[in-house]
Amino acid sequence: IKIKMKEIPVPVAFASAFEGEIIRKNDMHAEFSSHKNPTCELVLSRGKDEITDHKVEVNGPDIDGSTAPVEMPIAILVEVFGEKMQPDFEPVIERKIHHWFNYMEGVMHTGQRNLLRIRIDKAAFEKGLRLKDLGEVIYYMVMDEFDNVVDKCQVTIYTEKDKVEEILSTIAMPTYGKRDERLESLNDETVDTFYTCILCQSFAPAHCCVVTPERTGLCGAVSWLDAKATKELTPTGPCQPIPKEGCLDELKGIYTEVNKIVEESTHGSVSNVTLYSILEDPMTSCGCFECICGIMPEANGVVIVNREHKGMTPTGMTFGELASMTGGGVQTPGFMGHGRSFISSKKFIRAEGGISRIVWMPKELKDAVADKLNKTAKELYGIDNFSDMICDETISEDSEGVLEFLTEKGHPALSSDPIM
Ligand code: SF4
Ligand code: ZN
Repeated sequence: IKIKMKEIPVPVAFASAFEGEIIRKNDMHAEFSSHKNPTCELVLSRGKDEITDHKVEVNGPDIDGSTAPVEMPIAILVEVFGEKMQPDFEPVIERKIHHWFNYMEGVMHTGQRNLLRIRIDKAAFEKGLRLKDLGEVIYYMVMDEFDNVVDKCQVTIYTEKDKVEEILSTIAMPTYGKRDERLESLNDETVDTFYTCILCQSFAPAHCCVVTPERTGLCGAVSWLDAKATKELTPTGPCQPIPKEGCLDELKGIYTEVNKIVEESTHGSVSNVTLYSILEDPMTSCGCFECICGIMPEANGVVIVNREHKGMTPTGMTFGELASMTGGGVQTPGFMGHGRSFISSKKFIRAEGGISRIVWMPKELKDAVADKLNKTAKELYGIDNFSDMICDETISEDSEGVLEFLTEKGHPALSSDPIM
């Protein structure tokens, strides 16, 4: 019998309420930042006899070795064993470190994998918080939240530069690479199950994401592998399987099972969802979409805007204005929320012609997705450097200017069938 841990033996308060806490430079005692030093965090599964349960060690100097602000490298290695543990669960557990560290009063964590920043403030240091406590928090929380699959957990924190670099190059980077390859090798055709995610029903009661290998949840945080792992880790949780059965239209992505399970999951609010269309029964949008896509009728295409973009878009609306139309868990044909990674998918608004309809994106977003987008455009349409044909705010934010640019570039949307 496993005992659920409640009290965590660390010298600072631990509660989700501290999650938004920001630690400024002047208040910090120590910082581990990938901008200044090598860093990484990694969860790995091991054999039963390879690790010792509840062994928490700091290998290298702790944060009391020199005067503030202490800047150090860090590698956090969390090794777990469990009869039911699978490598696909490793990144799911790993991403929780971000939340658990932020739950500690006086600790701030951003980023993941080898790109991260951890700050510990002076007050927490004075209360006695040391690196070993960070390891204890991970141990207790892994055993509390993942007791379904983890039987043993060992945490080692390394702070010596050579050692951290060695872990990065020999274990961490190859593992991240393997995970990415696994995700990229998956597509909607090669799996037989999609998943729901209804985590956002707490504020958008009619909302249900349908998560497929090519369509990550619109928040960007729930990939198909995450949804699959969530189902196995918390069987009655927010992610439930949808057998990919009853295909009514493969091109548009219409399945009787998707419709049936979305209808059940939304208590009857939504009964038809077309996975790859923005006009015909598009997926609902809650509020945490990374991007919004909206029709720009005069350009015969679509505009995509990401949450970070504060300026205007050629639809005449900002991200915030578009969000107020699109969000809340309702279907809004012509507008939809989605994750960044969906933009370069061959399934992106495939019913309307796919990515060749994209006419405008903020430059930051365009640059971020360009490589993958160009690869997809080349494969789908034989177009080279498609991202160069897409307008952005540095070229124009208004309809006329966008049209002029598209004409000059010979953008394919202009010569496509009418989008609506
Ligand atoms: Fe789940 Fe993300 Fe969709 Fe919310 S937005 S329901 S968390 S996948
Ligand atoms: Zn949401």
